[in-house]
Amino acid sequence: MTFPRIDLRSDTVTQPDDGMRAAMAAAEVGDDVLDHDPTMRELEERAADLLGMAAALWVPSGTMGNLIALMHHLERGDRYLAPRAAHVLEAELGSGAWLAGGMPQPLDWSAGPGRIAPEDLRVHLGGDGPYYTLRTRLLCLENTHNFAGGAVTPPDEHAKLVALAADAGVRVHLDGARIWNAAVALGVPPAALTVGVDTVQVCLSKGLGAPVGSLVCGSAEFVAEARRLRKMLGGGVRQGGVLAAAGLLALDRVPELAADHANAARLADGLAALGWQVAKPETNIVIAAVPDTRHALATLDRLGVAAVAVPGGVRFVTHRDVTTADIDEALARIRADSTRTG
Ligand SMILES: *Cc1c(COP(=O)(O)O)cnc(C)c1O
Repeated sequence: MTFPRIDLRSDTVTQPDDGMRAAMAAAEVGDDVLDHDPTMRELEERAADLLGMAAALWVPSGTMGNLIALMHHLERGDRYLAPRAAHVLEAELGSGAWLAGGMPQPLDWSAGPGRIAPEDLRVHLGGDGPYYTLRTRLLCLENTHNFAGGAVTPPDEHAKLVALAADAGVRVHLDGARIWNAAVALGVPPAALTVGVDTVQVCLSKGLGAPVGSLVCGSAEFVAEARRLRKMLGGGVRQGGVLAAAGLLALDRVPELAADHANAARLADGLAALGWQVAKPETNIVIAAVPDTRHALATLDRLGVAAVAVPGGVRFVTHRDVTTADIDEALARIRADSTRTG
């Protein structure tokens, strides 16, 4: 019996398909550090346009994109606010503090998973203390919020948060690693979710299936500075067009994320029917609460279903390399196992 592994650890496991590899092989390239690679330039212009931003810069990873934005916005000792468990707080090695010099302040999910209520944000924007108090300089939003289970912030709520920050003279960076998923879930263009932000970082290497690459976007002045910071961090690449060609193709695939969302809903419904405690997914991330994470992951692993641990549970992520039949197969294996073991 064949027993292929169904990899639901992350949408980053997606592999470039034949079409993408062909586009990479055929890419027109130049030295991007010296004077701009033509395919890089095409990708940056298209992404800026799609996101409603003035300019964009390709970066090798989302982590570097976020770091460049934080380094640009923060001076040493400046406070930055972010929803609890934001990727910039939990999964980037503390680089916002370590390398950008900021003081992180997590904010509670007072408006729902991964989301800050405007009234709660107002309290934290503060700024009226004496000279020796912390200066709040930046609000980092995350849409979708990864560790909140791919939770979506809708445009009206986003607009309220951004307006409050602007009133307080606080800048806004959006970690939009999965902004594409948020846009598809809401049925709005990605640019509807960046309104009023100073900078945004988006990933091409997750559900869109590119092997490498993110973009960090903002004003033309920001991107000029970001190019310097990228070089300083070792992220200046030469014939990057081979990677940008994959990114251009990835951008064509945004509408296809709807299939991942449908598969996530199917997985969540199937797990719930088997008695799992699972939140209804908003996009492509399914989080199930389990009493013993290690045991749950080991059982899943034995069944050939790969997931990852999150605090108090396990996380499954659907993506373009798993089909609806794979989801049904994963559920069938879990069902058969629970029948066998009671
Ligand atoms: C994956 C991710 C990043 C970082 O992207 P890398 O390319 O893995 O460095 C940043 N923010 C969020 C919300 C992510 O999910």
